[in-house]
Amino acid sequence: MSTIRFQALQTTSGRKPVKVEELDKKSVIFGSNVFNDKAMRQFLTPEAYKAVQSAVQHGTKIDRRLADYIAMGMKEWALSKGVTHYTHWFQPLTGTTAEKHDAFFETSFDGSDPVEKFGGSQLVQQEPDASSFPNGGIRNTFEARGYTAWDPTSPAFIYGTTLCIPTVFVSYTGEALDNKTPLLRALSAIDEAATDVAKYFDKNVKKVTPTLGWEQEYFLVDSALAASRPDLMLTGRTLLGHTSAKGQQLEDHYFGSIPTRVLNYMRDLENECMLLGIPVKTRHNEVAPNQFELAPIFEETNLAVDHNSLLMDVMSKVGERHDFKVLMHEKPFKGVNGSGKHNNWSMATDTGINLLSPGKTPMSNLQFLTFFINTIKAVYKYEELMRASIASASNDHRLGANEAPPAIISVFIGQQLTKVLAELEGVTKGKLSPEEKTDLKLNVVGKIPDVLLDNTDRNRTSPFAFTGNKFEFRAVGSSANCAVAMTTLNSIVAKQLKDFKVEVDSLIEKKGLKKDEAIFNILREYIKETKAILFEGDGYSEAWEKEAKKRGLSNHKTTPKALKAKVSKEAMALFEELGVMNHVEVEARYEIELEEYTKKIQIEGRVLGDIARNHVIPTAIKYQNTLIENVKGLKEIFGKDFEKIAKEQISLIKEISSHIEGINKNVDLMTEERKKANNLTTAEKQADAYCEKVKPYFEIIREHCDKLELLVDDEMWTLTKYRELLFTR
Ligand code: ADP
Ligand code: MG
Repeated sequence: MSTIRFQALQTTSGRKPVKVEELDKKSVIFGSNVFNDKAMRQFLTPEAYKAVQSAVQHGTKIDRRLADYIAMGMKEWALSKGVTHYTHWFQPLTGTTAEKHDAFFETSFDGSDPVEKFGGSQLVQQEPDASSFPNGGIRNTFEARGYTAWDPTSPAFIYGTTLCIPTVFVSYTGEALDNKTPLLRALSAIDEAATDVAKYFDKNVKKVTPTLGWEQEYFLVDSALAASRPDLMLTGRTLLGHTSAKGQQLEDHYFGSIPTRVLNYMRDLENECMLLGIPVKTRHNEVAPNQFELAPIFEETNLAVDHNSLLMDVMSKVGERHDFKVLMHEKPFKGVNGSGKHNNWSMATDTGINLLSPGKTPMSNLQFLTFFINTIKAVYKYEELMRASIASASNDHRLGANEAPPAIISVFIGQQLTKVLAELEGVTKGKLSPEEKTDLKLNVVGKIPDVLLDNTDRNRTSPFAFTGNKFEFRAVGSSANCAVAMTTLNSIVAKQLKDFKVEVDSLIEKKGLKKDEAIFNILREYIKETKAILFEGDGYSEAWEKEAKKRGLSNHKTTPKALKAKVSKEAMALFEELGVMNHVEVEARYEIELEEYTKKIQIEGRVLGDIARNHVIPTAIKYQNTLIENVKGLKEIFGKDFEKIAKEQISLIKEISSHIEGINKNVDLMTEERKKANNLTTAEKQADAYCEKVKPYFEIIREHCDKLELLVDDEMWTLTKYRELLFTR
């Protein structure tokens, strides 16, 4: 018997680790495919170089004449590296990246004068056919065009033989059709707000840059095995499959030695990352079998987001070379851990200070506390929006499913800082006596660096945790584009810092308080107001769900429910005030995400119905037939005694029939619900129906299939099993 499963297993058993080309030292090859500072100095005129630098650092516009020079230099650089094509590289609202390659090559219509061409206009702006990208109704109006525009803050890079130019993607009427545009606007909002606040502490601060260090988790499955599972190929996760007898119970995979085939994949991937200027640093096994993690050195947020998007693409491509299918899905396998993408986030000044890192003087610690407490307040005020920013059909499997982290947003700060906040809460209202000030500065604020030095608490169950000198937004899904979470986080903190500045200034101007008194006073109020968001306990426990409810925190376990916060009055007002998104852009995204949710569940439903009916049932019937033959034979030999002798077989035959019936009945019911859902008139109603009415059948159908997997002869089972997917290396 040679089903696709056994062919795949055979293919896999013959695999050898794929050799990896040895490259020069990382420090030498780093960024060699990036149009970085070094390349720019070499290929640009001083004037053009200055224009790019100033665009990067101060957001100044680059005029057309200079754009021509820059394009020329970029082209020369690219041609010197064997590049033939260029593309505007952007991030439409599909969550992935998009590119349309054009050759540099041009010729006149009669074929004479062939030449490699690339001018300022091609660099700065393109008009891709936007009609097949999601737009949430933005372009339903009379004007259907969209265009991409160069983002000079993220350097161009070469991938393969293509020069990729990071761009934004906007409609003809100026609305953002991508993930990058709102992110850039949010980053500029927080720059402005945080710089204003940082000036309380140091007049020289001119710019604040939010930083992001993501940690990408993923699974590797042999490509032949993956190809034998239609559910993995079409939905990115296994829709059925009995859990393996061995899973992650022994915890022998985490940080264990990395299998050679995988290690070679990682080395190859890291080489690619180095060439592309993605500063990857750590690699290790994760908790689940065949699960791994990759993390870089943190970078400016826009660049880090681009790098993560690029990385996800590169991971899949390098995977092909090593016969691995890379699973970025949040929950590819039932019964073992899913994957996340922790977003480590902080803010850095152009004077070289990490604003979430305590310093050496009381004043710098007050600065730390200011940004620390304002972040907590922002998360408290906009916890639902934070939850919405990480909502997706695939992430629903992690959040609120008793697996890190819960659907409730809370902030973990550790014992030591909890103590510091408690002490600050006692600050006198209004003017402080000199003794009080000294005491605060020496004994509370002054001691923070010491308490943080031995602050080793780590609470893995918290969705938003302070980890020494940064916050870690852990609830982000492994397949997500970080831009969505980062746009939200940077926006809410920007808004909060703006409000804080107004409050402090008013205390200084109207109440005549000194700057530090005013800051202490406002922070004290914030500490009092925001206690409900702080949680240090076990985030997975039922007790926390109850407690959180009492505290008034939201707990949306499904995407359609969670997403609603995106279009709340507060959210709209927030984004509009900061100039991050207008209400059309917000509503469009809401619509697109609902539609994406619906489509994902719809596809899963179809695939599950297909596998259950066309793989599982026929296999079950085949096996049942051999049992029937067996019973018939027993009857022939033993006559009327056969019933006793064939008792087990007969009950198996019946059991198989009952599961077949279970599958058929429930697939029919699910299909009915799908039809009903499809006929609903709004995206909201459809998503709700898919969530509440269609999805519940998945577990029921799966249960019957998985039972059959246990009953049916292993030799006959056509679908590659969990133990094979998870333990073949
Ligand atoms: P883990 O959370 O797995 O213990 P670390 O805390 O060492 O790992 O760091 C995780 C990530 O945090 C890394 O990608 C690192 O670059 C990033 N990181 C460290 N400092 C900052 C910062 N100031 N801003 C943003 N990210 C940071
Ligand atoms: Mg981490």
